[in-house]
Amino acid sequence: VTFVAKQSFLKELLMKEQPLVRAVDGVNVTIKKGEILSLVGESGSGKTTLGKAILNLVDIADGEILFQNQVVNFHHKQEVRRFRQKAQVIFQDPYQSLNPKSLIIDIVAEPLEVNRLIKTEAERNERVMKALHDAGLDPPERYLYRYPYELSGGQRQRVAIASALILNPEFIVADEPVSMLDVSIRTGILKLLVELKESKGLTFLFITHDLSLAWLISDRIAIMYLGKIMEIGESDTVIKQAVHPYTQALLEVMPIPEVNRHRQRKVLSGETPNPTNIPAGCRFHPRCPHAFDRCREEEPVLQAARSNHLAACHLIEKETSQENSHD
Ligand code: SF4
Repeated sequence: VTFVAKQSFLKELLMKEQPLVRAVDGVNVTIKKGEILSLVGESGSGKTTLGKAILNLVDIADGEILFQNQVVNFHHKQEVRRFRQKAQVIFQDPYQSLNPKSLIIDIVAEPLEVNRLIKTEAERNERVMKALHDAGLDPPERYLYRYPYELSGGQRQRVAIASALILNPEFIVADEPVSMLDVSIRTGILKLLVELKESKGLTFLFITHDLSLAWLISDRIAIMYLGKIMEIGESDTVIKQAVHPYTQALLEVMPIPEVNRHRQRKVLSGETPNPTNIPAGCRFHPRCPHAFDRCREEEPVLQAARSNHLAACHLIEKETSQENSHD
């Protein structure tokens, strides 16, 4: 999946009276088949809006989505329907995302019915049971005729995963899927996502504010700040060899002992600026301990820090030119 929002933005009106917000601005990101790409950022970074934009759940003012190398034409009903079958979403809150008045069998079967994909009751039951089994709810028969309130938070999130799996998707956006769950059951859900990636070759965009979770499960990590990707690369590289000062600041406060053992903890100073009033130049410059004159005037673009590792920071060129002048 490739998402491109050139020099443009996604419209997101928070409230009618509020000005237009550039929730995602000039982002170009490709998610490779069979990988988990984590999108990490603080609240207000635009990560959820980007996830919704990829699924066309918010208006894109300018830009496009390519799925399996084809531009998805969101004006073409059939094409949208096909895309929606292949691209699913798991939301953050399993307490809100399931209809409390519906039985689990009906909740999980709903996408099949909406898309008119089943002919018989037996086929419907079989598909629901398979999806529940794939989501780790065993034996499935035990869950079919229960209501969401009869299940734990972890079981509800597994029901949400089953309803995302029932159409045999190829790509899933998982938006903070464990942040509402007890710490004790988070690992089980994360393990399930990794197993689904490996057993079914599924591709995930995993949205989280927690860098340590991202490191645990993803192949690559992208760091977002105020609607832009600041750094992207293989998980180990981004965590152990972060080049962007924002990523470094996030690492300072993350509970990752192997990474932080030798670091002195520093808390990121200042607040995230208001997205209606993005700072000129590098949008991170008001909080960046390394900012210099150029940062206040010129917006950095993503550039190679090393192979398969990009960051949007003027320090990369500054350090390269300093190294060259020493040669
Ligand atoms: Fe800091 Fe400048 Fe790099 Fe922005 S471009 S992160 S302000 S050093």
